[in-house]
Amino acid sequence: MTYDDSNVFAKILRGELPCHKVYEDDETFAFLDIMPRADGHTLVIPKTSAMNIFDVDTETLCTTIKTVQRLAPVIRNAMKADGLLIQQFNEEAAGQTVFHVHFHIIPRWAEVALKPHAGDMGDSETLAANSEKIIAALEAA
Ligand code: AMP
Repeated sequence: MTYDDSNVFAKILRGELPCHKVYEDDETFAFLDIMPRADGHTLVIPKTSAMNIFDVDTETLCTTIKTVQRLAPVIRNAMKADGLLIQQFNEEAAGQTVFHVHFHIIPRWAEVALKPHAGDMGDSETLAANSEKIIAALEAA
C-alpha cells in the first residue's frame, strides 16, 4: 500500500475539509478528533505525506513528537486533566483508520472512562469550546 492523498487528514491539510484546528507550524498541524475518546482529544500530524511508522522518515517523526510534547502540558492544563494517553496506530490490524501518520493526545481523569476508538461523533459545540480552551492555554503558555 502507498500513501493515498485522498485520506481525510490530507484533505484537512489542504483545507478541503473543516476541522477544529488548535495549532500549526511549518511542519506539523494539530486539531481535535471528530470522534473524541475524551474531551480535548487532539490529533497531531506532520504536513509531510506518510502513512505510519513504517514509511515515515525519522526527521518527520521527531518533528511530530516534538509538537506532541509541546502541546501535552497545554492540553493537560486546558482540560484540567489528571493525565494524558498518547496513542499511535499502525495498519488496520492495529486499529489505524486514517492512513496519514498521527499521534492521539487523549486527556484522562481518574474517574472518567475512556470512550471507544473512532466511536461516536463529537458534538460540534463541545468540540469548538474545547478547541478554544486549548488555543487560549497555548496563547497563555
Ligand atoms: P486512527 O484510527 O489511529 O487512524 O485514528 C484516526 C482518527 O481520526 C479517529 O480517532 C477518528 O475519530 C479521527 N477522524 C476521522 N475523521 C476525522 C475528521 N474529519 N476530523 C477529525 N478527526 C477525524
